[in-house]
Amino acid sequence: MAYCRVVFSCFFLWAMSATGHASTVIDVGQETVQLTNFSIEYFIDESQALDYQSVGQETFQQTTNTTTLGTQATVTWYRINLYNSKQQDKTLFLNLPKAYHVRSIQIFEGRSKNLINQALIDLNQASDHPLMYRGAVVYPFTVPAGETTTLYVRSHVYSHQWFSSEIYDEEHSRRSLVGGHLDIALLVGMMLALVFYNGLLYFATSRKENILYSLYLISGLTWIALSYGLISKAFNVYGDSLFILNLSVFTMPIFLLLFMMAIFETRKLYLKEHRALQGVLLLLLASFVYGLFDITQALKPATGLAALMMVVTFSVSISLFRKRNLLAKFFLIGHTFFIIFNGFAVMYYMGLVKPNYVNSHGVGIGIVLEALTLAFIISYRIKVLEDIRSKQDELKTQASTDPLTQLYNRRYFMTEGCYMLKKAKENGTPISVLTIDIDHFKAINDNHGHHVGDLVLIGVASVFQRWSRDKDLIARFGGEEFVVLLPSADYTEALECAQRIRQGIEKHTFQVSDALSLQVRVSIGVAQVDVTTLESLESAVNRADKALYQAKSLGRNRVCGAELQAA
Ligand code: GH3
Ligand code: MG
Ligand code: MG
Repeated sequence: MAYCRVVFSCFFLWAMSATGHASTVIDVGQETVQLTNFSIEYFIDESQALDYQSVGQETFQQTTNTTTLGTQATVTWYRINLYNSKQQDKTLFLNLPKAYHVRSIQIFEGRSKNLINQALIDLNQASDHPLMYRGAVVYPFTVPAGETTTLYVRSHVYSHQWFSSEIYDEEHSRRSLVGGHLDIALLVGMMLALVFYNGLLYFATSRKENILYSLYLISGLTWIALSYGLISKAFNVYGDSLFILNLSVFTMPIFLLLFMMAIFETRKLYLKEHRALQGVLLLLLASFVYGLFDITQALKPATGLAALMMVVTFSVSISLFRKRNLLAKFFLIGHTFFIIFNGFAVMYYMGLVKPNYVNSHGVGIGIVLEALTLAFIISYRIKVLEDIRSKQDELKTQASTDPLTQLYNRRYFMTEGCYMLKKAKENGTPISVLTIDIDHFKAINDNHGHHVGDLVLIGVASVFQRWSRDKDLIARFGGEEFVVLLPSADYTEALECAQRIRQGIEKHTFQVSDALSLQVRVSIGVAQVDVTTLESLESAVNRADKALYQAKSLGRNRVCGAELQAA
């Protein structure tokens, strides 16, 4: 019996092909039906006006169940012949998993030249269509025992004709629809992480390249989510309202170009390359604006534009690399990934190569590999900028401090002191100044050497710091002379502070080596800045100096004050 059936089906298949009526017939008489790789036929309807009856007269071409035919094939008819060699009727399902991106799908179910059933799915009204399930069209049909069913599918797309069809029994149809795309989820997850990472970096560094890079990634994500039907599946939206999101095809390179301009500082450093990037940017912006009004037309030259953009960005990165820009090397690596994989994808969408995993996922793979390299560039650039900043900080510190004692120098004291004086005048708070000179310091140098003198200067500076407040400004004015500015201290408080410092030094033993300890004395002059007469800092320092001279002449190791002159 089984033998008869096989002979019969062979004869049938031969008969079908011999008549030229249908060149491929698939036997669905097996126990389980799970057809994911089979031959179908197609016919591109350039008039876009043929109906089911008339299209049957046309000559169909052979292709596979997953196919791409480019932008010229806006309306394409696919034909699938199914023969049931079993003696029971077979209930099957035609799954079109890529249906989410089309404008409309029409299915005609014919048996012995009779139209048994038909369905129209207009994607603009597909949200609650009974045949639409999470971005896929699922069409149930029956092939009666020993009979042939011919399915015609009319696929009307917005832009590129890429089509995928599968035939299953009920169980496998259901299984195929719940299967998740782990690889795509991984791509999307990685890109989302990079978007957040760069958003955070922007808050930390306020550098616009982080924002441009995030926007580039978001555009890439939108495009990936769109082309893999993630948005359709998640939100159950299709048709025109979704198709406009293809504008991300333009925003992606726009943000990439802006990012290049920002990281390489082309406007400032590489004007010729800057002009080249600007040229492509203008073309992309024009296409983007055009796309706002007519996205279908705008997408027509998109592949050509993408190719032009890749040539320009690649040439610019080579040129920058030859000019020894360090970042250009990494950019070139990342961009090469982008170009190679997107090149595969462009050939896939134009129908120039047979679809496979890599070329059908080319854009996603290219974006992610490039994104990872660009993330590296961003962190590398942050390191470079951070190095420059810390060098600048170091120079600033060097310019404002005394190298021996690490106290502020005269220049810093005068600048910062004038600012503190201005604040005191505005707030009406008192402010005073001390000038300090070490007594008989020359003798220390003479008796123990210059090096011991230096150690004493360092020790004295740290005693000053211990006996003053955090807000006081202490500086080495030169030699063995020091000044201290005391904000919110009046004349009496300043005298007290001066005494504290003098006593602090007097009580301190300077252990300059294991064998040598020294006692040191200082004389201090005190003056309160006269804020009522708008006295200058120099003038107050001079008055304190006079008081210091007085302290010296009165026998040293003492504090003398300069009373405010009566106005
Ligand atoms: P007086 O009590 O009158 O202030 O006497 P003095 O010896 O402290 O004053 P004088 O101005 O005569 O001497 C200051 C000495 O300080 C002279 C100079 O060699 C020494 N000196 C200046 N700068 C430094 C320095 O950076 N290191 C060392 N070791 N000595 C210094
Ligand atoms: Mg001295
Ligand atoms: Mg002196």
